[in-house]
Amino acid sequence: MLTRKEFLFTALGFLLGAAKKKNPFIITVNGTIPANQLGTTLIHEHFLVDFIGANKISFDRWNREEVIHKVLPYLLEVKALGVKSIFDCTPAYLGRDVQLLMMLAEKSGVQLITNTGYYGAVKNKYLPAWAFKESPKQIAARWIEEYKRD
Ligand SMILES: [Zn+2]
Repeated sequence: MLTRKEFLFTALGFLLGAAKKKNPFIITVNGTIPANQLGTTLIHEHFLVDFIGANKISFDRWNREEVIHKVLPYLLEVKALGVKSIFDCTPAYLGRDVQLLMMLAEKSGVQLITNTGYYGAVKNKYLPAWAFKESPKQIAARWIEEYKRD
């Protein structure tokens, strides 16, 4: 398995490689945009986090309309201050909800970017069972499928 440091250097290498390409792009929850359209960006935020644990989490634990009611004013406030894009770094099994992010992006006009990966803290409480059984290659394949599907 990759160490955190190895992963970060790999990701940094990927980003630097992408930046050298002719038409670098960013995949937001509502579609692809040219990288130069990101504008002022908040690079690590969390709109919703649920610490119940990977074995109990589900999308019916929160009401999307209630979350939107709570979060949208803050989104509009930072937008008014010039923020154009926000990375929501909530991982799967900790409350990442791409549908919710799509709704927030649409209602606010702020470009939202989500991520993949897992959060391995608190004695691995937030890791799905297969994270302990599968190879890094198998887990990477899951994440690539997420990217294609979501
Ligand atoms: Zn964070």
